[in-house]
Amino acid sequence: MSDFPFTDLSRLEHQDALPEACDTLIIGGGIAGVMTGYFLAKQGQRVVVCEKGRIAGEQSSRNWGWIRQQGRHPAELPIMVEANRLWHQLADEVGEDIGFKTTGILYMASEQSELETYERWLPFARQAGVDSRALSAQEMADYLPGARGNWVGGLYTPSDARAEPWLAVPALARLAKRAGALLREHCAVRSLDITAGKVSGVWTEAGRVRCNQVVLAGGAWSSLFARAQGIALPQLSVLASAMATNPMPAVFPGGAADPALAFRPRADGGYSIAHGFSHDFYLGPDAFRYFGAFREQVKSGLKTTRLRLAAPNGFPDGWGTARHWIPSEETPFERMRVLNPAPNMRTLNAALDRFADTWPSLGRPTIRQAWAGMIDTLPDEIPVLDRVPVVPGLVIATGLSGHGFGIGPAVGRVVADLVMERAVGHDLTAFSFNRFNSGRVLKPGLAF
Ligand SMILES: Cc1cc2nc3c(=O)[nH]c(=O)nc-3n(C[C@H](O)[C@H](O)[C@H](O)COP(=O)(O)OP(=O)(O)OC[C@H]3O[C@@H](n4cnc5c(N)ncnc54)[C@H](O)[C@@H]3O)c2cc1C
Repeated sequence: MSDFPFTDLSRLEHQDALPEACDTLIIGGGIAGVMTGYFLAKQGQRVVVCEKGRIAGEQSSRNWGWIRQQGRHPAELPIMVEANRLWHQLADEVGEDIGFKTTGILYMASEQSELETYERWLPFARQAGVDSRALSAQEMADYLPGARGNWVGGLYTPSDARAEPWLAVPALARLAKRAGALLREHCAVRSLDITAGKVSGVWTEAGRVRCNQVVLAGGAWSSLFARAQGIALPQLSVLASAMATNPMPAVFPGGAADPALAFRPRADGGYSIAHGFSHDFYLGPDAFRYFGAFREQVKSGLKTTRLRLAAPNGFPDGWGTARHWIPSEETPFERMRVLNPAPNMRTLNAALDRFADTWPSLGRPTIRQAWAGMIDTLPDEIPVLDRVPVVPGLVIATGLSGHGFGIGPAVGRVVADLVMERAVGHDLTAFSFNRFNSGRVLKPGLAF
């Protein structure tokens, strides 16, 4: 689909001139990069965010817009609680309507075993002060009146929220700019400039910028960038499809999901709907390179992942995608300004059927727009938020693994403090860069 927001490169919003030098340069204008830029600028740092295409052009505008504490990995939960608090503040501070609403998130369990998984997670919620609770079958019926479902119960978090990502992240970028960050769209960073073993700047397609600190927040492209600098980061991406319907009556005010259906009402009166947790996965060279690191994820994701044989050219892990270049050459980042893959209409239609079966009185929703995004994931499905020990001056903030929109503001705050060598206020051990070299088998954690 060509008319998805931010695919149009003739309408760039941010064209700040690149300075000769800055304190910190951020690679990537998704929510991780934008929020890091905002918090650094607020601390008085001279910060530049370089985005190869459009701010929020990739995952950060394509997501469901769920701001979810529910089901988070225990290590992420305290950061997510902070993010939830920050969203309330930021929604006021941006001075624009970003569709932020605290409307709760609900998981529907069709099997007793799903309910038990949810119940096992509840102590983590309690410890973090999150108001999640298990629901009985009768309570589910009360929350979803008129629905035809065989749910044995569910999990509900009233303080979870939602926002419209395609409004929120550009608005946050404007906020970062007001705080003093420089933003430059259509400006790929080609490589790090390393002097005496340390970061001394970057080479962009528009020239060199001197700086002592670089944050790599390149979403699905981070591994490709890192590898070209000699840094191995076992990151792969899956394609996730979603759609917007035409306006329909409201059935639930917040986000709701089970493995075959996920939906939430949109500010425009329709729904954002997707097929629960199913994805498509393209086999590229990194899929083979990092197979060992991902073997636990492969096992647990077999049922929900559709394998596609050849990763298309130009994708971060495409067979024809260049892996090495010199700073004076065009790179894969410029060849694919906005990664805008085609959605899987089969799974989207299955989700629509499921919605129609669940609310027969509403009829089958009609699609207004369908799209897809490439979700970057790491073997344990939690990000790297760390300095790279072998490259002083480089911080990595990537691998937000399908749930980075909600946590994005706090990721930005944490990464800004990492850059400034201040106490971050959270235990970041689980997010270390070195965990991939520890010899431990990393499993997708207690997150759903
Ligand atoms: C369909 C879908 C549904 C989702 N639903 C949710 C949800 O409901 N809730 C939730 O919390 N999360 C959700 N997510 C995940 C969430 O969108 C991501 O985790 C989050 O947006 C990642 O942000 P990011 O900044 O790390 O990456 P991105 O948003 O992908 O941004 C990275 C940016 O870096 C740029 N870039 C890369 N390399 C370079 C370079 N060399 N030079 C310059 N720029 C570069 C890219 O162009 C890109 O714009 C969903 C994702 C998808 C696709």
